[in-house]
Amino acid sequence: MSKPIVAIVGRPNVGKSTLFNYIGKSRTSIVEDMPGVTRDRIYMDAEWLGRKFTMIDTGGIEFDTNDKILTAMRNQAKLAIAEADVIMFVVDGKAGLTSADQEVAVILRNTRKPVLLVVNKVDNMKNEAETYEFYNLGLGDPIAISATNALNIGDMLDRLIENLPEEHVDTEDNDQIKVAVIGRPNVGKSSLVNAIIGEDRVIVSDIPGTTRDAIDTHFTKDGTPFVLIDTAGMRRKAKIDMPVERYSVIRSLRAVDRCDVVLMVIDAQEGVTEQDKKIAGYAHEAGKASIIVVNKWDLIEKDSKTSLRFTEAIRNELGFMQYSPVLFTSALTKQRVHRVTELIKYVADQHAMRVATSVLNQVIEDAVAINPPPSDRGRRLKIYFATQPDVKPPTFIFFVNNPEIMHFSYLRFLENKLREAFGFEGTPLKLVVRGRK
Ligand code: GDP
Ligand code: GDP
Repeated sequence: MSKPIVAIVGRPNVGKSTLFNYIGKSRTSIVEDMPGVTRDRIYMDAEWLGRKFTMIDTGGIEFDTNDKILTAMRNQAKLAIAEADVIMFVVDGKAGLTSADQEVAVILRNTRKPVLLVVNKVDNMKNEAETYEFYNLGLGDPIAISATNALNIGDMLDRLIENLPEEHVDTEDNDQIKVAVIGRPNVGKSSLVNAIIGEDRVIVSDIPGTTRDAIDTHFTKDGTPFVLIDTAGMRRKAKIDMPVERYSVIRSLRAVDRCDVVLMVIDAQEGVTEQDKKIAGYAHEAGKASIIVVNKWDLIEKDSKTSLRFTEAIRNELGFMQYSPVLFTSALTKQRVHRVTELIKYVADQHAMRVATSVLNQVIEDAVAINPPPSDRGRRLKIYFATQPDVKPPTFIFFVNNPEIMHFSYLRFLENKLREAFGFEGTPLKLVVRGRK
């Protein structure tokens, strides 16, 4: 199921990232169990009164043009209108109303999506009158908050969740492997998709109830049914010229939410970009399987070490995705294109793999024998028992005497041992530590 998306829009320095980080702190995600993701995040899973949503700080999204602030803000607002479910427009109560705020408000007034006008830096609620001038923006009642002093945030979140759309459950066929094809414009996503499926076997279908104009492509290969998620812009070349719409981070995140396997397509001549890292980080945290496809391989002059060097460079850039297979393709010459679906099937199986409890505990016992668990002030960690309660991603619970003695590096070691024993290629693992009295 895809979570609703809340986009935060506003001028630089109004406190967007402070607010974003504050709300994100209360999140209940699996981030804690999956360390190593990039720090300057632009998305964050959050929850308030049981409603889950994904927040995007549009201030952190880079657009292709090397923009002036105002252009960047207009792009943020357009992006939010196009892709978000609720828009949080943050202004600065200390600085007061600015002409840039007014320009953005003009754009935001033209959407039917809910816009929450948030006046930040009202550090003392006695000064709530500071918010009155923002009525001029024509975006309804402003809400005064202070992100740094944590004032009124609860009220703001109440208003926010009132505006979230109804939850809907995807009614998709669960036998199908759902694939999100992700990557910057021009890396060859459309060419790859067309090369993979060919025209004859394709049924293009609208899946109602998901993102506006999301078009999924269903096809079967060697008996396995696949769905490529949101191929709207890929099957027929996008008519929309706006750079904002051509590579929508938000659209990509939604596709990742709905998929089992992410195909991260990278242009061999460009390598991994910042945008790629952010989306890859999201996929990792969301527990999705992934494959890194280095396309346009035909354009690279090669010697015997070229692919090795490329793989190393990618592993450096995407440190948290050591588990993802790297495939070198050319959509143009069709080199290794047939391998793409084989690999998707393979990592999807790994992502859904269950191991027997007895074998699991044997592997852990052997690991502990080679490398004893850490100790702290004379107390040594004891692992009593391990179990795998879940798949997609494979999730393991370790019952221990005292979770506080568990060390990140020791968890990493256990993860490596699990991978050595069982593979789990292409999938992140979720490791949970529980105390037992
Ligand atoms: P962004 O550029 O919109 O993401 O803004 P930041 O979150 O980086 O904040 C810009 C500056 O405003 C930082 O120095 C923050 O500490 C400060 N700031 C953020 N929220 C508040 C607030 O509620 N009150 C006050 N006084 N300062 C704040
Ligand atoms: P998308 O924006 O990611 O969907 O990229 P496209 O599939 O539209 O490809 C962008 C451009 O790169 C087009 O001109 C393609 O013909 C070209 N292209 C795509 N894949 C390859 C490849 O493997 N090799 C070469 N040389 N060109 C490619």
